[in-house]
Parts: sequence; C-alpha cells; structure tokens
Amino acid sequence: MAICIRAVDFSETSQIVTFFTKANGKISAVAKGSKRPKSAFDGPIEIFSHGNIVFSDSNKEKLATLTEFESASGTRGFTDLSSDLFVLNCCYFAAELLNKTTHDYDPHPELFDSFLQFLKDANERRDTLHTSQDTLVLLILFQLALLKEVGLQPILNSCANCKSSRESQTTSHEIYFSSTANGIICKDCETSFPDKIRLSQPAANCLSNLKLITEANKKTLNEIESVLIGHFTELLGHKPKMAKYL
Ligand SMILES: [Zn+2]
Repeated sequence: MAICIRAVDFSETSQIVTFFTKANGKISAVAKGSKRPKSAFDGPIEIFSHGNIVFSDSNKEKLATLTEFESASGTRGFTDLSSDLFVLNCCYFAAELLNKTTHDYDPHPELFDSFLQFLKDANERRDTLHTSQDTLVLLILFQLALLKEVGLQPILNSCANCKSSRESQTTSHEIYFSSTANGIICKDCETSFPDKIRLSQPAANCLSNLKLITEANKKTLNEIESVLIGHFTELLGHKPKMAKYL
C-alpha cells in the first residue's frame, strides 16, 4: 500500500511522484506518460491518492520508475478534500511534514497507518459544524504521532530539563515549551532556554494529557498548533511551506 504525498510535473506527459509506502517508506519515482489520456495509471496521479504501486528501483542513486499504480476502491483518493480548503491545507501540511521528516526507503508502517487514518478522518469530518476545530485536533495528534515515529517524541508529562512533574510544582504553574529542550519546561528551568514560549494553562494541560484535547476550544488548539509549527521550523531549519495556510 502507498499514499501519494507529492506529485509534480516532470514533462508534458510525465510526473515525478513521491509515495509513502507501508512496506518501504518514502519512494520518489517517475511516472512516465501519466499525463497522457490513456496511460497505465488512468490519468495523472493526484496527491493523497492511495493504492498499490509497483516500481523498479534498479539503482537507488537514481529515481525509481513507477510501473503500476492501482488506486484503492476505484477512486482517485481523497478528492472530496478539495471542497474544504482548510481541511485540504491541513492535509497538505501533514504530507509536507511527513515528506521532510522521513528518509527514502526507511519504512514506518505505523506512521503509514496513522497518516492514512488522518486523511480518512479529516475527510469524514467535512460538512460538520466544527470542521476546522476537529481537523486541528486530528492534525495536532498526527504531528505528535509523526514526531514519536521518527524518534523525536517531545517530553510533555514532566519538565524536559529537570524531570520534575507538574504536580510537584506547587509554587508556580507557569509552563513553557522549548524546542531545544524538546518538550515542556518548568519555571525553575525556563531561564536556561532562550527559545522557550510560555504556554497558557489550557494548552499546557492538553499537551500533558492529550485526552483533554478533544474538549479544547479553538483558541487553545491554535496556540498548540503554533507551538508545533515553531517546533517543526526548528527541527527542519526552515518554516514548513504550508504553515502559513493554517
Ligand atoms: Zn525544570
């Protein structure tokens, strides 16, 4: 199984596509002739389409060649996403992070499942009253799952520096997040981390107990998302391109 996470034109008739596959991790390949009306792929390959792929990777130094793509359930993927721009942008953003934090041919089967589930859930929440709020919850949880899978899980249940739990801090409830500490930081440690950001109480509570996140209001979710965007910006060395659309 594979999900298309990037598709760019390569020539008049061909595309370069990046698939996140369950068995082999991320793979970029040339889809020759994919833009011809009668191609082996039933037309251009769209981002978020998923299904079974066959590719040849004779030489890992070079781009692989996509030889077959059989889209799941006869659809072209999550094309309904395009009806809700915010949901679509969240999916593009998730795909960008996935692309930039994983390596070619480095399999993460659980991350594959998390991403596919994220796309399905985000698509199903369209047309409900709180679409953007629900989508943000899904996106935040996906980003945390991604960090965990690639070995960068932030420390959120105690101070990442002195390890003291939040319960033991009776004097102050000031909580900060620091990318360089890779997690939350207590009041005693915050001066050592110039990059720290002070968290509101609800945001700190959600991060240390993710079950609370489904009850969080829009303001708190936006705050958490902006902390995560800052964190990914530090990790990647640049701001994710799609961040400005969230
Ligand atoms: Zn501390």
